[in-house]
Amino acid sequence: MVSVAICREFRERLSFSGMSDCLFCRIIAGQIPAAMVHQDDTLVAFKDINPQAPLHLLIVPKKHIASLNELSPEDDALIGTMMRRAAALAKVHGYRDRGYRTVFNTNSEAGQTVFHIHLHLLAGRGLGWPPG
Ligand code: 5GP
Ligand code: ZN
Repeated sequence: MVSVAICREFRERLSFSGMSDCLFCRIIAGQIPAAMVHQDDTLVAFKDINPQAPLHLLIVPKKHIASLNELSPEDDALIGTMMRRAAALAKVHGYRDRGYRTVFNTNSEAGQTVFHIHLHLLAGRGLGWPPG
């Protein structure tokens, strides 16, 4: 009963703020499956469904923030935590020394398609520069 009530409250909060339509909020809520590689109180990390490199993870805060443009000073620690998690995951997967790329895409010309902020972690092949 308690979990049903919590679930209903969570659903109501999501729909109140328009987040029920957000793909990554739904993944975080367990409504859509994803290949999770990390979960903690503030963020999750899972495999990208359309990987662009042998390792392609998405590091996603549980807090719904649409993009870098919507960050506020109170999110500074969260972004630091995301960056450090990316480094930790690169190390766990054996790419600490070979190298890896971390990317936030913001809005259309950068190719952002999911408007819940996320950090791409790419590794395992030579990554061109400048990026496409
Ligand atoms: P963006 O283009 O917004 O920077 O990145 C969104 C990423 O989310 C893309 O790389 C895309 O492949 C990935 N993606 C889209 N839908 C899903 C999904 O349902 N599951 C997972 N794991 N990744 C997704
Ligand atoms: Zn969201």
